Amino acid sequence: MATKFEAGHVLTMDDSLTVYSPGAVVFEGQTLVYVGPPDRYRESVAQEVVIPEGVLMPGLINGHSHAAMSLMRGLADDSPFFEWLTQHVWPVEARLTADDIRLGVLLAAAEMIHSGTVGFADMYFEVDAACESVDKSGMRAWISRGLDKPSEEKLAQSLEFCRTWRGRADGRIQTMLGPHAPYTCPPEFLQEIAESAVAHALGIHIHLSESAEEMRQMQERYQKTPIQLAYDAGIFKARTLIAHGVYIQEDDLPYLEGLAGGVISCPVSNAKLGNGILPYPLLRGAGVTVGLGTDGAASTNSLDMFLEMKALAWMQKMREGKPEAFRAIDALWAATRGSAAVLGHQGGMLALGRPADFIVVDGKRAHTTPELDVVANLVYAASGADVRYVVINGHIVLQEGIITTFDEKAVLQEAQTRAEHLLEGRDGA
Ligand SMILES: [Zn+2]
Repeated sequence: MATKFEAGHVLTMDDSLTVYSPGAVVFEGQTLVYVGPPDRYRESVAQEVVIPEGVLMPGLINGHSHAAMSLMRGLADDSPFFEWLTQHVWPVEARLTADDIRLGVLLAAAEMIHSGTVGFADMYFEVDAACESVDKSGMRAWISRGLDKPSEEKLAQSLEFCRTWRGRADGRIQTMLGPHAPYTCPPEFLQEIAESAVAHALGIHIHLSESAEEMRQMQERYQKTPIQLAYDAGIFKARTLIAHGVYIQEDDLPYLEGLAGGVISCPVSNAKLGNGILPYPLLRGAGVTVGLGTDGAASTNSLDMFLEMKALAWMQKMREGKPEAFRAIDALWAATRGSAAVLGHQGGMLALGRPADFIVVDGKRAHTTPELDVVANLVYAASGADVRYVVINGHIVLQEGIITTFDEKAVLQEAQTRAEHLLEGRDGA
């Protein structure tokens, strides 16, 4: 039997950006069977949720994360990058167990669900444990094991992982290959990964052109930009999720022509690490799809995609030196349709036959009043804390602000205890 949600506004994010005020969506199983004005749907439904003050829209898709790093939130912030990575992050990572990953992913899932994210593309390790938590959380995820040095064994294990988990949890879990970056994976290894991806019809998740230091290193080692290097290794023959892309330049564009996939911008991480601002007009002008992500909470501190939408808009306006350079709808597009298109996913919009993945945001709070422009309110005024309902794959995962799939309180308590233990170990205690 079907479930109907009715709200003050329904933003479909379809090609015509149709908005129904009021509007309704109806889903049966995992799929939307109706999107339109509430009174035009006359069939009987098993459950009806009516939120007149709500803005219903596609769930946000976090296109780049390292979910379990939520356990390291607040670790040595504001340190120089390499000091932060080598002296703080790596020693803790070296001690993370599968149980820690399971816990860290659930902590991240709690934060993401509360702030309206329905799915995330993740790169990390102990990926079996990560998938178990994704399954439990009710979220959608594209999981890849980070490959950070040449290893036949790890590539073989990665492929085995991909085969094992692909399509599990009612199709909520998808898998990708995850060569970390061109400065950790040399060209021959990238080539091998690319060939495996093509042979097994898998996508690739990789960090490219994130920092000035990476550009310098690649120029020095290979006389190429990271994009040229990835192209030459055959990476772009597979669907590729390029995380960051801050330093993509005009010379790179021919290599990105016809790319299946696209770039996931992580503006908060790029700002906080002092890396720079994505050349959005250059990429869009060349027809490259741009989606949005948070990166890990160890560098970004927050997995709130509403914050990322703001940061993306602010930084593009600042880069171009004019407010009209980037619109609120462009940010909303990147966080929904953009990320979905990079992943080759049917979600990110509300239409007949699409996945029942949507959220309801409270649109009548002090900070979203008056309601003159719903899209501007969502991007510039709202925050993830305004999300009241999250539906993923036809299941209500957040109901009136309460997570229905797991015991959030227990996860938070355990995460606090475990994070303190991990830090004690770091200091030799
Ligand atoms: Zn990253």
